[in-house]
Amino acid sequence: MWFLPVLFRNLRQGPATDPFPFGEASTPKTFRGRVRFDPQSCTGCQACAHVCAGGAIRFEEQPDGLEFTLWHNACVFCGLCVHYCLSKAIRQTDDWHLAHPQADKFAMVERATVAYRPCDGCGKPFLPASLRLMDLAFGGSSPEIARLRYLCPECRRNGAFNEKPRLPQASTT
Ligand code: SF4
Ligand code: SF4
Repeated sequence: MWFLPVLFRNLRQGPATDPFPFGEASTPKTFRGRVRFDPQSCTGCQACAHVCAGGAIRFEEQPDGLEFTLWHNACVFCGLCVHYCLSKAIRQTDDWHLAHPQADKFAMVERATVAYRPCDGCGKPFLPASLRLMDLAFGGSSPEIARLRYLCPECRRNGAFNEKPRLPQASTT
């Protein structure tokens, strides 16, 4: 009968665990769950695919841009992609509802296209640096940065060679 006080105390206090699957479970905000991708912030450097421990990320050239695919059934939630993404285009959420039948593995993907835009100089399609990266690198944008952002690397290089260097004025006194 020693257990009766414990039993009554527990009945009075109610369940001590989450009611899942009959209710939602509590998840810490810092939980490393489902990876989300923002194509507007991505600059296409592909560092995330290079460091991905699970080989879950793939980039493919398409006529309109660079297609990003992340296979949720291969992701091991290591967070390396988030850590190495300079422009913060990739993040982990506290969503862990990723269990799925094997037959659905081709549907359980995160897919988006990082769109090309024509270069303001030569018209060739290319991937400009994202505004997010500009913000992080320069603390915002300026007309000069905006102009350079829409030039492809080749036009920027040619421009840098052709522009006259701004030399300091010689003193006349
Ligand atoms: S998500 Fe980040 S790391 Fe991956 S290609 Fe885009 S900018 Fe680079
Ligand atoms: S969390 Fe790790 S395994 Fe998952 S996509 Fe990112 S780098 Fe790959």
